[in-house]
Amino acid sequence: MKIVDGHCDVLVKMFLDPSIEFQYSQQLQANLNRLLAGDVKVQLFAIYVPEKIHPELKFNAALQMVDIFYEKIVKPHPQVKVIQSSDDLQGLQENEIGAVLTLEGCDAIYNDEVKLKSLLRLGVQSVGLTWNYGNFVADGVLEENAGGLSRFGKKVIEILNERNILCDVSHIAEKGFWDVMDIAKRPFASHSNCLHYCSHPRNLTDDQIRALIKKDGLIGLTFVREFLNEPHRASINDVLKHIDHICSLGGEDHIGLGSDFDGTEPPLRGLEHAGEYQYLIDTLLQHFPHDVVEKITYYNFKNMLFSR
Ligand SMILES: [Zn+2]
Repeated sequence: MKIVDGHCDVLVKMFLDPSIEFQYSQQLQANLNRLLAGDVKVQLFAIYVPEKIHPELKFNAALQMVDIFYEKIVKPHPQVKVIQSSDDLQGLQENEIGAVLTLEGCDAIYNDEVKLKSLLRLGVQSVGLTWNYGNFVADGVLEENAGGLSRFGKKVIEILNERNILCDVSHIAEKGFWDVMDIAKRPFASHSNCLHYCSHPRNLTDDQIRALIKKDGLIGLTFVREFLNEPHRASINDVLKHIDHICSLGGEDHIGLGSDFDGTEPPLRGLEHAGEYQYLIDTLLQHFPHDVVEKITYYNFKNMLFSR
């Protein structure tokens, strides 16, 4: 069964260690062979600029990750196709994987809208406003006394709206989340779970989940153990609980997957890399009807990616 995966950190891993190779490196949970083995049809690749990079060098680091995306992920692998439109998505052939470029956190654009527009022109299809801390756009979930969207943040949303670009609310603090919901045309959460089931600041309250559903957005469930359950107890079964909960809020058509492969350690037992995706599908099929599993793993995300 096919998968759309809304978030991985392959680009930053390859940025930090240029010796890592995309097709088969065992250091990548989402290397090409594993994506193919797991039947991942579309993978979103996030540009995430590490906190430790000096602010003045962050935009350049983002550009280097754009370069890795095109030169090391797409160019050497004819079966990997860049996806920038619904036509690209529809045109994917049987043995091909779609690669979507995204931005996780606006730290790299500083307070400069030209930098944002430049990244969009380079093919970024989804913009996450923050990582865990504050930037010129808004504050992240771990920022103290977190505030909402800044004036510049509102300008950023305006730019995304004009270009029909997805606005990713994973990592943003709650005040900013609600500001975004007031004005963003296409909000979604690429990798977040339910606070109701697992109390972690990265997870979404029921009101936040309902608001995303109402805006025709999506919640990409993630396999980060801390966001699923007590980390030492987290298992694939917890993914079912989070799905059940969003379904209970009326969100069956708004659940997707956002693994965060290559973004956290250690991996979830039984789902240690993208090649093991079908174990998750087997588990899902034991609990949900076939058509519901297909929506959660593929169709919900696919339908949202380039919706108007
Ligand atoms: Zn993240």
